[in-house]
Amino acid sequence: MAQSMNRQVFPAGTRIYSQGDSHRCAYLIEQGTVDVSSAGDDGKAPHRRLGVGDLLGGEALVGSGVRPVTATAIEDTHAIAIDRDQFQDRMQDADELLQDVLRAALGNSHLGRANDSGAEFPIRHSGAENPAKQGTLESDLRHAIQGEQLDLHFQPIVSLGSGHVAGFEALVRWDHPHHGTVAPSAFVRLAEQSNIIAPLGRWMLRQALDGLQLFQSAARAKGQPLYVAVNVSSLQLLSASEVGDLADIVRQSGVAPSQVVFEITETLMVENADDVAVAISRLREQGIRVASDDFGTGYANLAFLNRFRMDILKIDRSFITTMVADARSQKIVETIIALAKDFGMSIVAEGIETKEEIAALRALKCDFGQGYLFAKPLPVEQAIALVSKKIRW
Ligand code: C2E
Ligand code: CA
Ligand code: CA
Repeated sequence: MAQSMNRQVFPAGTRIYSQGDSHRCAYLIEQGTVDVSSAGDDGKAPHRRLGVGDLLGGEALVGSGVRPVTATAIEDTHAIAIDRDQFQDRMQDADELLQDVLRAALGNSHLGRANDSGAEFPIRHSGAENPAKQGTLESDLRHAIQGEQLDLHFQPIVSLGSGHVAGFEALVRWDHPHHGTVAPSAFVRLAEQSNIIAPLGRWMLRQALDGLQLFQSAARAKGQPLYVAVNVSSLQLLSASEVGDLADIVRQSGVAPSQVVFEITETLMVENADDVAVAISRLREQGIRVASDDFGTGYANLAFLNRFRMDILKIDRSFITTMVADARSQKIVETIIALAKDFGMSIVAEGIETKEEIAALRALKCDFGQGYLFAKPLPVEQAIALVSKKIRW
């Protein structure tokens, strides 16, 4: 197989293929994780994950129909593409028993849907995912949204010019009854895979707006009012009605839309670029500001900034952590700041942990900073106390 191996890379968020596409090949996953989902007749869309060593889309090797499922890379995924014609040529040379076994195994995968037995054909399970455990966590999460287990913490975003708090980023926390605190990076992805992200996102937005009203009355600031930044999964932006619901929640809250920022991660914007670009402009028409989160970690470039018109650019922590010791990182930060200013965007540096980093960022005229040096994400009462003290850094 060596001479014809066709390795492909799918960045996180990439749709590898969609349910109903005609199929040409299967993929042997070498690295990463793929979400497989199928819209059922009952309107539900069960999901399943495939990882290293699994065969994705095996039905393509034996049938000539269409994809029964949709496959999306949820981490950067490397896979060997196996072409149907080449595979069938090789099958003809194989031992008859081997041919029968392969047909039976791949044929099963052709019949199934995600979540049914053998929807996609796992050649070898890495053991990294435990579907039973994921199922339990998923129902726990549905429960948590209705109950009292979820909470938002608020991390201050500081104006580097004045040294005052300019706003807060709302970060979700899950206090699981048995597992303790579950990190958002773990369960936000789970929510995305199981269609809980929309109700979770609406819940978080309402809580964040409630928090902002408390901060604004505690600050009683004369100058620029405080704002709140909410993380929005790009999956929430794919449905026009969901985008409308989010805008309605902001409008009905009584908070000025310009005091609300939706943070979107760049890697997820690239996939479904058209839908996300439309959603961003709809939100901005309503006066809501939009930020490009984790800038510099994905594939963002000049064309990206032109395509997705946004108000704020958040420079990823990885550049801030290295900029003091590494001249190249410093140059990258300087260039990003200059570029964002040319595009009329304001800039937030993420993950500031040292005084040297603040000094360097102030010298570069970076607008805002966020990081443990100012404060970790705080429970709402502590965030209120922070603004009422009018601390200046
Ligand atoms: P993010 O949007 O990049 O959020 C910043 C993360 O960096 C937070 O982690 C925060 O606690 C951490 N952080 C802030 N300052 C520092 C620092 O100085 N040093 C270090 N080492 N870390 C710092 P957290 O709260 O664990 O959130 C992780 C990610 O989970 C977030 O990354 C965001 O992508 C996602 N997330 C959190 N809350 C939500 C939410 O409500 N909705 C959605 N869709 N995603 C969320
Ligand atoms: Ca964020
Ligand atoms: Ca970030």
